[in-house]
Amino acid sequence: MNDNNFAGNSKSTVDFLGNVWNYDCMGCAISRGDIKIPGGIIYEGKYTILGADPEIPIPGFFIINVKRHVNSFSELSKEERIEIGNVIVYAEKALKELNIVKEVTLIQEKRSKHLHIWIFPNYHWMNEKFGKGITYLRAISEYAQKNVNEDGIKETLNIIEKTRKYFNKYNINE
Ligand SMILES: [Zn+2]
Repeated sequence: MNDNNFAGNSKSTVDFLGNVWNYDCMGCAISRGDIKIPGGIIYEGKYTILGADPEIPIPGFFIINVKRHVNSFSELSKEERIEIGNVIVYAEKALKELNIVKEVTLIQEKRSKHLHIWIFPNYHWMNEKFGKGITYLRAISEYAQKNVNEDGIKETLNIIEKTRKYFNKYNINE
């Protein structure tokens, strides 16, 4: 995982199921459905798509992809902002109520050319092994990529499925 790739700015990627995807912009490719997110879309609204991070198999690591090609909150419409807020609320509620994780870290990097927000779960093993705080998220991500096994993939897919079911129970924009 090089630095460009980390911000979603590379031109191709291998997802955690081993599929190779080529694209001009990963966010646009996800919006169009040209990239099939591993485990499938968790929630699709009018303006956003919620799914797992395609590259990093950590159970409950989700990405909110804004459908439109913008790279800043300042470019968003009111409707887009509201939907993003609602997706964050329900993703966090799902992770807590399904007893997946109690704490998450939200990240949006402007150096990524297509706006997406990371919802990064905070597990005990991460604190133990790396320490707490955003400094360690890259190291944790690389570790998860390198050390994943079949059970880890299964668990990641299982959490995706559970979270999708959770989203299906609600109208998140009400
Ligand atoms: Zn884009």
